[in-house]
Amino acid sequence: MSARRFQGGKLVIASHNAGKVREIGELLAPFGTEVVSAGTLGLPEPEETGETFIANAELKARAAASASGLPALADDSGLAVDALAGAPGIYSARWAGGAKDFDFAMAKVHTAMGEERDRTARFVCALALAWPDGHCETFEGTVEGDIVWPPKGSNGFGYDPIFLPKGGTLTFGEMAASAKHAISHRANAFAKLVAACFGTG
Ligand code: IMP
Repeated sequence: MSARRFQGGKLVIASHNAGKVREIGELLAPFGTEVVSAGTLGLPEPEETGETFIANAELKARAAASASGLPALADDSGLAVDALAGAPGIYSARWAGGAKDFDFAMAKVHTAMGEERDRTARFVCALALAWPDGHCETFEGTVEGDIVWPPKGSNGFGYDPIFLPKGGTLTFGEMAASAKHAISHRANAFAKLVAACFGTG
């Protein structure tokens, strides 16, 4: 069955992060989409109780769509390390603690991996587009790579300095934003969303 398409007009971005809302608005502007943030509408932030990236994106999108009466888009993302059985995974932000200290979170990944020979990991981005009638479309994008130590570079955010994309020589922390955005999990997920729900095809 083909995906339900977004018919234009207002779209709620189910995030209280202004940077994220702006970036998504820019990505979707060519499709006649006017974005408004959940924060601006004063919508409550639901607790992320899902066990997968998709489940968390879906619960945020559904909550925003039903509270606002408008279609809503949510994302959930993180780093999954194979030798750690997918951790930090959906807890990627929480591993940085209340102070959002990613030097601490990266050191925690490094310590947990120890001398483990399997260094493979991936960033995952889940997107959910929900309508007020309960319909929801979901998409997932990934980028494969290896965990390196010590951290390298100060571009990007989060775990970027310890993530070396497959086949590359620079970590996400060393890459220019445009180079990261060309191959990232987020770009990959958005390409799927746009093709299915926003494109002209
Ligand atoms: P959320 O999707 O806003 O819940 O963020 C999840 C967490 O995953 C972020 O706080 C980062 O720790 C991590 N993360 C997600 N995407 C990236 C990325 O592109 N680079 C580095 N860390 C990321």
